[in-house]
Amino acid sequence: MTAASTDTPMIRMSAVDKYFGSLHVLREIDLEVPRGQVVVVLGPSGSGKSTLCRAINRLEPINSGSIEIDGVPLPAEGRSLAELRADVGMVFQQFNLFAHKTILENVTLGPIKVRKQSKEAARETALQLLERVGIANQADKYPAQLSGGQQQRVAIARALAMKPKVMLFDEPTSALDPEMVNEVLDVMTDLAAEGMTMLVVTHEMGFARRAAHRVLFMADGEVVEDAAPDAFFDDPKSDRAKDFLGKIL
Ligand code: ADP
Ligand code: MG
Repeated sequence: MTAASTDTPMIRMSAVDKYFGSLHVLREIDLEVPRGQVVVVLGPSGSGKSTLCRAINRLEPINSGSIEIDGVPLPAEGRSLAELRADVGMVFQQFNLFAHKTILENVTLGPIKVRKQSKEAARETALQLLERVGIANQADKYPAQLSGGQQQRVAIARALAMKPKVMLFDEPTSALDPEMVNEVLDVMTDLAAEGMTMLVVTHEMGFARRAAHRVLFMADGEVVEDAAPDAFFDDPKSDRAKDFLGKIL
């Protein structure tokens, strides 16, 4: 694999279409996310935000168009897909930890299986990451013994353990009790400040204003607005964005 130059976009989607049956869920999406950029994706329920995230790492096959991560086209299937997919970390609303594995095992499993790290190396990295998200002392517990906010921070550590080039977050705080939202957003804000390329679906407008370089507003499978956060929040252009902001702010 040739090293991509620094101006190769980290994510490039070209004319991506996705249908569920006759429902056209992503419509000719063209999107380039430069290295280190933090993009917040907003839009009403059903507008295609989750499908966009899932398409980026091929959890969801697309009908046409192309997707490249750091200049490398995502193959449709096979072993190389597993490797490329590992470049794209994903954090979901439901934390999706393995219930019958310890916190440490949850974080070391992917690096050992997919990245072929030794157990010792994976353990060392995992403990560093758990430290970084503030839960190193919970390493030997099981997910159910942790709060939702702690579990979500483990999910972030697990994704980071794969050394991804891009992190996708799909409503990472929507399932959390309000008092736990900030502990997760703080970890994400730090990650953004460290230069991680991130695509974040969230309704947390404070996070969007603080951490995002760019806001995408989606409606009916299209990117309707693509603007800097302040420009979007203070002066949305489309009626659909005005309507959306009127309901959530
Ligand atoms: P959002 O995340 O913005 O709420 P989604 O990407 O989840 O939107 O969904 C976009 C549209 O696709 C919705 O109309 C939804 O009902 C539909 N959809 C999502 N997943 C599936 C699926 N697996 N099968 C059929 N329709 C789906
Ligand atoms: Mg969704």
